[in-house]
Amino acid sequence: MSGTIPLEGWLAVNGVSRHFGGIMALNGVSFRLEQGSITSLIGPNGAGKTTLINVLTGIHPPDTGRIRFQDREIAGLPPHRLAALGLGRTFQLEELFGSLSVLENVMVGCHVRSRSGMVACGLALPGARREEKQGREIARANLRRVGLEGRGEDPIARLPLGERKLVGVARALSMNPRFLMLDEPVGGLAAHEIDKLVELIYQLREEGLTIFIVEHNMPFVMSLSEKVLVLDGGTLIAEGLPQEIKRNEAVIKAYLGEEVAVD
Ligand code: ATP
Repeated sequence: MSGTIPLEGWLAVNGVSRHFGGIMALNGVSFRLEQGSITSLIGPNGAGKTTLINVLTGIHPPDTGRIRFQDREIAGLPPHRLAALGLGRTFQLEELFGSLSVLENVMVGCHVRSRSGMVACGLALPGARREEKQGREIARANLRRVGLEGRGEDPIARLPLGERKLVGVARALSMNPRFLMLDEPVGGLAAHEIDKLVELIYQLREEGLTIFIVEHNMPFVMSLSEKVLVLDGGTLIAEGLPQEIKRNEAVIKAYLGEEVAVD
C-alpha cells in the first residue's frame, strides 16, 4: 500500500516518511481523501497514527514525501499556517490548560486563527479586545454544539475525562477547520456522549467538513467511516471500505494478540 501515487484528490499524501532516532514511525505512506468524507485510521499501538496527524498539522515535518491540500503543497509548513489553511485537530491526551476555565480553553482554538494572537489578547490591545469578544461567542457556540452549554465557567480540572475530550472537540471547531482530525475521540466517553459525538460528526460533514478519525474503538470506526486506513509499523497495510477491512488478512494478522472485535 505504500509507495507513490499521483497527487490527485482533495488531500493527497504521497510517500511520507518520518523517523525518530532509529524508529521509522511513518514509512512511505500514501493515500488520498475526498472532500466531505469520513475516514478513519486504525492500527496497533505504536503504528504511527498520531505521528501521521502530527505530520499533517505541522508538529513534526516529514523527512520525505509530499502532502497536497487543495492544490497547495503543505508538507513542512508550521502549525499556525496549516491551522489558517483549515487543518484543525484534537489531541489524544487532551492538552488543555488546567488553570483555565472550560470556555477559556475553547477560546484557545479561536486564538490559533486570530490575527492578533494570544499575546495581543493578553495585553488587551483594541483589535485584540474585539477578537476576544468574537472568540468568546464562537467558543460558547461550539460548547453548545458538543453539549456542554452552561459549563463554560467551570474549571477544566473539574470535568471528567469524557467531557474534557468534548472540550477538545469544541476547541478544534473554534479553529474553524475545513479538515478536522480527531485523535482518539471516544476513549473515556459514556455511551450517550458517543452517540452525541456521532451525531455531531455527521452534522459537520453535512456542513462540508472532511473528517479524519484515529480511534481504537472498532464498532465506532466501522459504523461511522466511509473509508478505513490501516497502519502497522509505520506502513499503510490496507485501505478500503469498513467491511473489506474487517476481513482483510493483513489487518487481522497485524492485530494478532490484540482485540480485533469489530462487531
Ligand atoms: P497509539 O495507538 O499507542 O497511540 P500510534 O499508532 O499513535 O500509537 P505513534 O504515537 O505515532 O503511534 O508512535 C509511532 C512510533 O513512533 C512509536 O514507536 C513511538 O514510540 C515513536 N514516536 C512517536 N513520537 C515520538 C517522539 N516525539 N519521539 C520519539 N519517538 C516517537
